[in-house]
Amino acid sequence: MTVAGSRLQPTLFERSRPGRGGGKIPHPPPDALDRIPAAQRREVPAGLPELNEPEVVRHYVNLSQLNYAIDTGFYPLGSCTMKWNPKLNEWAARLPGFTELHPMAPDAVAQGTLQLLWELEQILCEVSGMRAVTLQPAAGAHGELTGILMIRAYHEGRGDLGRTEVLVPDSAHGTNPATATMAGLRTVSLPAAPDGGVDLDAFRAALGPQTAAIMITNPSTLGMFESRIGELLDLVHGAGALAYMDGANLNAILGRFKPGEAGFDVMHINTHKTFSTPHGGGGPGAGPVGVGEKLLPFLPAPRVLREPDGSFRIEAVGERPSSIGRMRSFVGSTGVLVRAFAYLRTHGDSGLREVTDDAVLAANYLKARLAASGLYDIPFEGPCKHEFIASASSIKKRTGVRTLDIAKRLLDHGFHAPTIYFPLTVDEAMLIEPTETESIETLDAFADALITIAREAESDPDMVTSAPHTAPTKRLDEAGAARNPNLRWRAAATGSWTPCPD
Ligand SMILES: *Cc1c(COP(=O)(O)O)cnc(C)c1O
Repeated sequence: MTVAGSRLQPTLFERSRPGRGGGKIPHPPPDALDRIPAAQRREVPAGLPELNEPEVVRHYVNLSQLNYAIDTGFYPLGSCTMKWNPKLNEWAARLPGFTELHPMAPDAVAQGTLQLLWELEQILCEVSGMRAVTLQPAAGAHGELTGILMIRAYHEGRGDLGRTEVLVPDSAHGTNPATATMAGLRTVSLPAAPDGGVDLDAFRAALGPQTAAIMITNPSTLGMFESRIGELLDLVHGAGALAYMDGANLNAILGRFKPGEAGFDVMHINTHKTFSTPHGGGGPGAGPVGVGEKLLPFLPAPRVLREPDGSFRIEAVGERPSSIGRMRSFVGSTGVLVRAFAYLRTHGDSGLREVTDDAVLAANYLKARLAASGLYDIPFEGPCKHEFIASASSIKKRTGVRTLDIAKRLLDHGFHAPTIYFPLTVDEAMLIEPTETESIETLDAFADALITIAREAESDPDMVTSAPHTAPTKRLDEAGAARNPNLRWRAAATGSWTPCPD
């Protein structure tokens, strides 16, 4: 069974009826099969469902109606920047000049796309304060790997071979330690200070000649700006290590803080978070990486270059022997990069600053409303950046209702849940990021829903713990779905249309 509309519906395979079909095409001649060489014939039918066209279209359109999307509702998913993606950028990304360009087209016929990519690099340098940018990485996590591989190449290039550790605060996104491990380095986890920032004493103790890099998310995934950043970077560089900035929270600092100017050596930018592109469904994304002076020689190849005559070309293989090489096919996720370019050019300098100021204002407004209710715990007080943590820890102690239950009950109120149980360092955490694109009415409606649910937890806890009540499915076995995903329908070996039993 699959889910469509508000009810369970059979899969296309279950609806299939032998002989049913869409188009009206001539019947094959009686000897059609004989004309196919015996070795090329199937032994059993392909196992495709047989349906008429409206059945297929309705099936998929009904499925699409189930999607919760930024086009249908508010999406306060912390650390994800699920902001509105202007439709103008979708139009730009669909222009045939971009979509119909073959990735192996010679440079001479790809000048428009190459120029856009080259100019995007310059804009991202300006935004990040970095010297140069690679557009290759396919996502933030891939950008992290690119950055750490460059850091490794830098130390190796200097014959500094004992640097095997990466320091990562314990509030970091899981991709940070995963990146260090994939790059063959060891993660050392740093505890947070009571204000949510890096604990400087623990940091000093962990830093040494074995440290390759520190990875810092600023503002952190707690929504707080790291106020000791200058001191931290001085210590890192003093120890001969390099500083990686996880730029996933760039939405909070546009035009206000440039990591490259502050002294970071490398950072990634999640264009699909900060600079539009619908995301959340698993891609495609783009995670450009900016570098400072020290890592410049190691940038992935090929780069897009501008010739003295103003034309553009893709770097030749082997042109820059110090490069760490290719991180993905061709030049990057071009469609996503076109959206980012359109977003950046339509906002301009002052527009980007306003994005940040409004995102920070919206988060502080929601935070203040929840704090004033007295129902949720707000572990880090004072002004936040673009997101903040609320916790249901006290609600759980009083009523048994947990953050997961509140997230499920929010669905009944028509809202997507915020990020929950992340960061791992806060009990019953909700990480809430409203973004700059929501109206005050939406923010109020969301705060009202959270407050109503917290009160309901006291008066009728069963109603909350058994939520959602209006969704087509109830509680799912999420661990089972993640560990044993069953995503495929299989025809039984006999070739009959028996659905896969599991
Ligand atoms: C989203 C995110 C990442 C990973 O980025 P992807 O583009 O999803 O790979 C890394 N760090 C933080 C803090 C994030 O929020």
